[in-house]
Amino acid sequence: MHSLIRSDSGAEDYRDPEVSPEGAATTTQPLPAERRQAHEELVAEWNHRLEGASAEDIIAWAHTHVPGPIAVTMSMQDTVLAELTEGALDNAELVFLDTGFHFPETLETRDKVAERYRLPLRNITPVYSRAEQDRVYGPRLYARNPTACCRMRKVEPLARMLDPFEAWITGVRRADSALRANTPVLEVDRTGRLKINPLVDWTDDDVDNYIADHDLIINPLTRQGYPSIGCATCTLPVAEGEDPRAGRWAGTSKTECGLHT
Ligand code: SF4
Repeated sequence: MHSLIRSDSGAEDYRDPEVSPEGAATTTQPLPAERRQAHEELVAEWNHRLEGASAEDIIAWAHTHVPGPIAVTMSMQDTVLAELTEGALDNAELVFLDTGFHFPETLETRDKVAERYRLPLRNITPVYSRAEQDRVYGPRLYARNPTACCRMRKVEPLARMLDPFEAWITGVRRADSALRANTPVLEVDRTGRLKINPLVDWTDDDVDNYIADHDLIINPLTRQGYPSIGCATCTLPVAEGEDPRAGRWAGTSKTECGLHT
């Protein structure tokens, strides 16, 4: 039986946001110990050797060293990872976390990616729709408890999605924020899966140049003052020269959704 909390008005009871929806896993199944060990050995042998390697070379390395399926996580802020992995990995799937709160421009970018690239694209959704979340947890959970909202709409769906995969590729860059400044090329996540960060040393200019050189699909919001794009409810435009992630959960101390922490 879920615990209930009373809303500020006292008029309705809502489920405690620390209690996730019933009937769905909230974590990823750990890989067998021998797979984790194999990944730890790869990290120990290759992390320093891949430092400074091009993104293309890191993805070619993954093609050679990761026999199992690979998830390529796409925020649809840009489409660099789709371009880099198309044709380079035959065991990969693009993955998009469809929180239900995205800007229409981000969903249009996702749809264009699905048309342009041959790699399969998985659209991952939370257990509850927006309306169901409002009914069970109360309206505007994203404003009252963004950590719980991100947990149920991003972190837990990603965790469920990762089950069949051996490894995942992310677009995390050290230039994103101070918290990401020491991100390695290769990591082993809590479940024993290999986490590969091929763009780790890319600057903002590197991203812009790659987009221009390869005529990539563009999320138009990136040209309208949104250098870092999350859910529409939690992302504000930022001024020229401001920290690119300053518009994410602006006015709160939150800086990460929890996918990479
Ligand atoms: S970014 Fe905002 S709306 Fe999106 S999942 Fe997190 S708290 Fe919820």
